[in-house]
Order: sequence, then C-alpha cells, then structure tokens
Amino acid sequence: MRNWRTGTGKREDEMTNCLFCKIISKKVPAKIIFEDEGVLAFEDIDPQAPVHTLVVPKKHIATTLDISNEDDALIGRLFQTAGKIAKEKGIAERGFRLVVNTNPEAGQEVYHIHLHLLGGRHMHWPPG
Ligand code: AMP
Ligand code: ZN
Repeated sequence: MRNWRTGTGKREDEMTNCLFCKIISKKVPAKIIFEDEGVLAFEDIDPQAPVHTLVVPKKHIATTLDISNEDDALIGRLFQTAGKIAKEKGIAERGFRLVVNTNPEAGQEVYHIHLHLLGGRHMHWPPG
C-alpha cells in the first residue's frame, strides 16, 4: 500500500515502525558494541546466554526471505562481523551459535533480519 503523504511504499512504513531501524538511527538506545557503514551489533536486551549479541544490517530487510542478490556482500559482512565479535569476546575457539529466526513458528519477533550470536555456555541440540 502506498503512503499518500510521502508517495513512498510499504518498505518505508516498515522502516518507520521497525525497532532495529530505530536502534540503527539512535532513536532507541542500545548497548552498541560494533558499527561500520553497513552493519551494527548490540547486546540483546534479554540475553539467553553469557554472550548474546545481535548483528544487524543497517539496511532494512524484514526476513531471510527478503534477501536479494544485491545483499550478497552485506550478508557476508554480517557473518564476518559475528565471527570478529566472537573472537573479541573470547568464545571463538570454545564455540558459539549463530541463529536467524524466520517468521512466527521460528519465533521471529523483530522483522529486521539479525544474527543472534550466542555463546559462553554449552549449546544444546536440537534447539528448542
Ligand atoms: P527474534 O525473536 O529472533 O526476532 O529476536 C529478537 C530479539 O531482539 C530478542 O532476542 C529480543 O530479546 C531482542 N530485543 C528486543 N528488543 C530489544 C531492544 N530494545 N534492544 C536489544 N534487543 C532487543
Ligand atoms: Zn528495520
């Protein structure tokens, strides 16, 4: 549905209402631990492990199903950034888990893709 005031479409409406876009634009505070031109990483507000960091693209992409070819490098950067943070936090060699939830049955709550970087404790399999 197009926005009658701005003439722009759904994507802009989604961004306006998106919690992680608000964190990226610093309208909502977060404990930011890494930032570059394309990626932001901040601590999860409700950590499920001793390390629980969220790594997000600055570009609003709602779910993994919305990733396009032009996002290839950006998605690579997300994983690379998660690995760097894991090393900095001293969990790279012990091990860590990267999780991306997609849509309701997976428990996606925020519709702006994010890598959950989880570590610092033993991770169970299968996940819940
Ligand atoms: P998901 O369920 O995969 O969409 O993950 C959303 C994550 O965002 C959850 O782990 C929440 O704890 C986390 N979260 C929600 N609000 C905030 C916030 N304001 N700052 C940091 N993390 C948040
Ligand atoms: Zn967003």
